[in-house]
Amino acid sequence: MGGVFVGGSINMDVVARADRHPKIGETVAGKQVLYFPGGKGANQAVAAARLGVGTTLVGRVGKDAFGAELAAFLANQGIDLGYLQQTSEAHTGTAIITVAEADNTIVVIPGANALLGPEDVGVVPLVKGDVAVSQFEIPLPTISAFFRRACIAKATTLLNPAPAQTFDRGLLELVDILVLNETELGLLTATALCDATEVAGIVEAARRIQVGAEQIICVTLGRRGIVALAGREVLIVQGRIVKAIDTTGAGDCFVGSLAAQLADAVSLRDALVFANAAASISVQRMGAGPSMPTAEEVAAVLA
Ligand code: ATP
Repeated sequence: MGGVFVGGSINMDVVARADRHPKIGETVAGKQVLYFPGGKGANQAVAAARLGVGTTLVGRVGKDAFGAELAAFLANQGIDLGYLQQTSEAHTGTAIITVAEADNTIVVIPGANALLGPEDVGVVPLVKGDVAVSQFEIPLPTISAFFRRACIAKATTLLNPAPAQTFDRGLLELVDILVLNETELGLLTATALCDATEVAGIVEAARRIQVGAEQIICVTLGRRGIVALAGREVLIVQGRIVKAIDTTGAGDCFVGSLAAQLADAVSLRDALVFANAAASISVQRMGAGPSMPTAEEVAAVLA
């Protein structure tokens, strides 16, 4: 059994709730302030660790109160923080979120995440059977260095190209499994994919970005589930019908769960079914990190 190594972002999400959003230049009184551990890297590591798979998070936080609090939270989740650095050169990554009238505005300041460099990921002890996971909230050259090291070690690489941005083919060539949603797939293929897009259109778009005969492109479709292109084979997993109350972090839950299953040497089809079930549990709970299920909870859903 291998381990999951996440090279990624760690943020504190600061949520201000108010009756309405302030206009430009205006101050309004808020009702509540909430602090949630976040960042796609941290969320995905929490998802994998909750499933009982050895999980290491490679990242950077600032030498400040948020950094200390996040490190304590992540350690409490059973995540190995041997490659987490606290730097005095930047503050901890922070997302300032204002929620009012069922809408939100978000400002993300990457802070220490932007300082995670190729030298930080170059020392990670990956071996065959491990799964190296990354996303786009750390610098792209760092992800490339992380995946190059994984390729040399014959570990599996899993890229979640979110938040959506284009990237060069050099990085894509280092990826064994690409997990992305329709927006990200649409951006990479310059195609206007939407909720109503049929499976054939998604498969066609996935084929256009697939590099090599073996690469797996896994497209998450929200409540509709997953369409994956594995080499030439198409795998479809229907979404589970549940009452979603908060889909924040659903994609991160899916990615972390898929990585955990693959590190556990589960077949791709079974891993997709499991991760789909895990993510369907997460949308029935509030928040990102706190909504990630345990292996027992997922097993109960699939029984
Ligand atoms: P987010 O950015 O909100 O984290 P995402 O856009 O990256 O999400 P989605 O495609 O929305 O990812 O969701 C990921 C997976 O979560 C889906 O493939 C599915 O397995 C599960 N999921 C999401 N929404 C629902 C839902 N309403 N009902 C059941 N399962 C869901």
